[in-house]
Amino acid sequence: MRGFWRGPLGVLGALIAASALLWAIAGPVALALPALVFALLWLRHLSGLRRLLGWLEAPADRPLPYGSGLWEDAYAGLARLLRQQRQSEAGLRGALERFQNATSAMNEAVIILDELDRIEWCNPSAEHYFEIDAHRDVGRQLTYIVRQPQFLEYLLAQNFSEPFVLRGARGGETTLSIQLVPYGNRQKLVISRDITRLERLEETRRDLVANVSHELRTPITVIAGFLETLNEPGGADPDLQRRALELMTRQAARMQSLVEDLLTLSRLENARGPASERPVDVPSMVRSLLADAQALSGNRHEIAIARCDGPWVLGSEDELRSAFTNLVSNAVRYTPPGGRVDIVWRVTPEGGAAFAVQDTGIGIEPEHIPRLTERFYRVDRSRSRETGGTGLGLAIVKYALSHHQARLEVESAPGHGSTFSAVFPPRRVCAPVSGESPAPAPATA
Ligand code: ADP
Repeated sequence: MRGFWRGPLGVLGALIAASALLWAIAGPVALALPALVFALLWLRHLSGLRRLLGWLEAPADRPLPYGSGLWEDAYAGLARLLRQQRQSEAGLRGALERFQNATSAMNEAVIILDELDRIEWCNPSAEHYFEIDAHRDVGRQLTYIVRQPQFLEYLLAQNFSEPFVLRGARGGETTLSIQLVPYGNRQKLVISRDITRLERLEETRRDLVANVSHELRTPITVIAGFLETLNEPGGADPDLQRRALELMTRQAARMQSLVEDLLTLSRLENARGPASERPVDVPSMVRSLLADAQALSGNRHEIAIARCDGPWVLGSEDELRSAFTNLVSNAVRYTPPGGRVDIVWRVTPEGGAAFAVQDTGIGIEPEHIPRLTERFYRVDRSRSRETGGTGLGLAIVKYALSHHQARLEVESAPGHGSTFSAVFPPRRVCAPVSGESPAPAPATA
């Protein structure tokens, strides 16, 4: 810009000097010279302006026009501006691409909303969570996709400090947390996560606290009641005292087994990864289980090892004993006196092994079977309590078996008995360590 005036002022000075000289020679007719020069200059600038306006109509498609003199300087400036603009456009495009690639890889759904809450862009997780189509639904309002009236209220309230929890998304099964972040010119960034598992865990935790409190309340009330009676002035008669102590002992034992089962369950839940890979002599364990079952039954049932030709397995002896003991004790407890319990340890056709307990007990209605391994789920509450059940036995079985990649199978018919089988995969099977083969001898009580 510094030399801008030098050229034009030089031309003007030369023109005035030439016109003055001509005036002196030829009189007023000399005015024709500056008039002609100004007309030529005016035409030149008009044509430069026309070229510039023509280029401005479609700057992206046409090359910058060529010009000389001041126009050359103007076009050079424009060319510089264009270069800078293209560079920053390329930078922005790169940044946008990186942002889209990063958000596409995210598990969280990301949606960009314009100032009218219409979808501008979304990542693949958003398509999945909200069942939207990135092409079809761009331009649609988010409230058209999330149709709950509470969500509309949340949007209108403009208070996004807490996320909105959307229950029943994706056909009713999924719970989403939707966080809105306002930015720029009244645009919004929507970030959403699937919190279905978290919600279930929270629900399980709440249920567990409620159930444990409920389970502990009865024994504590009984013990507190008797203690109050025994503490009364004059005390209770010896007969009542004896009965009170007996009942308090029973209730204390109930609390003890509940706490023990809770601790076992918590140990199993906290143990990460698969169970240890120690060879376990399951045939010997099965034989010792028979003795335990007989003690529990008190000779009121016919208990037998129907088959015990299964192999050793790789795993945790404590966990396996705990699982098998629960299955055997359930069979005894839910089989009326005179009934029969058969224990089986055998090889499966796939090369794995199965521990099965078959009883002729009360059986289970089919609708209860899928829920049996839930904590504190009982079909017959009073029978479970009467026989010292905590409602945690099959939950323990489930965890212990899953540590061994084994599954629990239940077959049952009300009034006809049940068969609970723990089925182990072939990779858990191992050869006896001592070199003895598993003893096949069946035993009968
Ligand atoms: P509990 O301590 O109540 O026995 P479990 O978790 O071991 O708890 O079992 C859950 C429920 O499954 C029991 O309350 C009972 O109703 C049912 N159940 C378990 N085993 C048997 C069985 N062998 N026969 C009939 N019902 C059974």
